Amino acid sequence: MNGGVNGGVDDRLNDMEAEALRLDATDPLPALRGDFHIPPAPGGPYAESAYFAGNSLGLQPRSAARWVNEELDDWARLAVEGHTQGRRPWVDYHEQAREPLARLVGGLPHEVVAMNSLTVNLHLMMASFYRPAGERTRIVIEDTAFPSDSYAVRSQAVHHGLDPERTVVRLRPRPGEEHLRTGDVLGYLEREGRHVALLMLGGVNYLTGQLMDMPAITEAGRAAGAAVGWDLAHAAGNVPLRLHDWDVDFAAWCSYKYLNSGPGAVAGCFVHERHVRDPAVPKLAGWWGTDPATRFRMAPEFSPPATADAWQLSNPPILALAPVLASLELFDRAGMDALRARSERLTAYLAARLSRVAGLEVVTPADPAARGCQLSVRVPDAAAVAGRLAAAHGVVADTREPDVVRLAPVPLYSTFHDCHRAGTALRAVLDHRPDG
Ligand SMILES: *Cc1c(COP(=O)(O)O)cnc(C)c1O
Repeated sequence: MNGGVNGGVDDRLNDMEAEALRLDATDPLPALRGDFHIPPAPGGPYAESAYFAGNSLGLQPRSAARWVNEELDDWARLAVEGHTQGRRPWVDYHEQAREPLARLVGGLPHEVVAMNSLTVNLHLMMASFYRPAGERTRIVIEDTAFPSDSYAVRSQAVHHGLDPERTVVRLRPRPGEEHLRTGDVLGYLEREGRHVALLMLGGVNYLTGQLMDMPAITEAGRAAGAAVGWDLAHAAGNVPLRLHDWDVDFAAWCSYKYLNSGPGAVAGCFVHERHVRDPAVPKLAGWWGTDPATRFRMAPEFSPPATADAWQLSNPPILALAPVLASLELFDRAGMDALRARSERLTAYLAARLSRVAGLEVVTPADPAARGCQLSVRVPDAAAVAGRLAAAHGVVADTREPDVVRLAPVPLYSTFHDCHRAGTALRAVLDHRPDG
């Protein structure tokens, strides 16, 4: 399967492959790979791809089609009656996501809701919790924030009549360093905290894979008098979260990355109970946020329940919520803590394999406590490298221009053998790199 290489290298590869297969056979939490559709390999010697792009779009659970088809079927059979007579009536369909989402992010059930998409939820949260006043106007994000978050916070500043250049502060790593130091974030809050209205960072950075110290930063941000929100796009379903205990003000995440719920799937949102209980917290309102007991009286007064549901605007897209329920079932079956333990084993194995590949630099922190499953590697011409990984080896990774390839071994469906394939393929691709 590696035609053209000499016998010694072949033997070593065979030994490494045997080791990977042994790790797969003996892992205390074997992959639930059989519960997912594994895409065929775009190239290379294996039928299935070694899929490392679950940080961008998670794989489809085999059960997702059944969940979606049941709703299509209820719509066909029952039409409007499906709101109340369906197998899972649509009028309170979103409530089925509540308990599993609460378990996933460490929230209380009345602190979480599945709704909208991520950037929309960030705006809804900022409408409630970004309340610039007096000298306290700043929004603090990380310099490597995802662009949607950068646009969102700048537009919030403008929305409040503020200059985004002066209002949005982008925290940078020290010169020559890749990651924000927790101590530097805390130092900023100590020095400048009285100016900070909102601190909103990514729990796991989409580019570097750095896992932030969410409890320490949340505590310091709140102590400085700021609201603290987390973008958990790359953290939900990747690392264990304790949002309630950490006293986070709000958080939002999408469901199509580690939550495997399909492109554009309904996102999630967390609002701490101290806020859901407080009717004085201002919020943008819609009819799905009012008390379901009185919603259909069609009265003009908004009377929200003391739950995160109060932030809902519209009745949810059932067809985009059904796969979320299918996926959450798998997380409940495996358990987030067991998944994290498996994730640490997989990522450590991949990191060890990558450390033996000349010509690449791992950008993600080496400390397992400071990363999720993703490893970002810096290579010359990331797009060309990822293209050859897929075409010649069936290894699917994604890239961030110009020089980062991101590899996410996802504990639900990735295997040690996938990691072996990634290590072997990267080595082959970088060894045979044409000049320039
Ligand atoms: C993926 C991602 C988004 C995407 O936002 P959508 O509103 O779901 O399109 C936003 N922020 C971060 C940090 C992300 O990783």
